[in-house]
Amino acid sequence: MIVEIDKCKVNYIKPASAVSWDEYFMLQAMLASFKSKDPATKVGAVFVDGSNHQITMGYNGFVAGVDETQLPWGKDNEAPYEHQKYAYVVHAEANAILHSPRELKDARVYVTLFPCEECAKLLASVKVKEVIYLSDKHCTKEGNKIAKKIFNLSGISYRQMNMKPGLLDDLEAHLAKQLADL
Ligand SMILES: [Zn+2]
Repeated sequence: MIVEIDKCKVNYIKPASAVSWDEYFMLQAMLASFKSKDPATKVGAVFVDGSNHQITMGYNGFVAGVDETQLPWGKDNEAPYEHQKYAYVVHAEANAILHSPRELKDARVYVTLFPCEECAKLLASVKVKEVIYLSDKHCTKEGNKIAKKIFNLSGISYRQMNMKPGLLDDLEAHLAKQLADL
């Protein structure tokens, strides 16, 4: 509602955010995944507290501080394990936990891909309370079932979320406008 006060038009229109908290933090996780150098699977994770403040983030990448040119991004199962990426990659959730500035008890975790069983162990150990994920493309694999079992036994809830149709178009238009305003 626009109200006229002392001949000035004052805006009392109720503001509305373009994104929900879920969408906002999943976009953050997607942005984190964009930073990954993995040519095949880029994963991002964002941890959030009960006040909707981001605590930490991570993406999948090689062990920090090593000469990455000496490590392979290949994932051919026929190759010796030493020559597969799996031997050297630290997952997004693990990186976020390693670099967290504070404890993660009762945090929510936004991940672009449902966690593997190794990350599920870490998430349960730091006592997060909820996992929100975008893709569950490995849902038929044994590790995925183990991860869900770990969550169930730990009282960690998990849910898949979809991004609102048109959200990425709105975001693109918003970013383009910001750049146009430079
Ligand atoms: Zn993992």
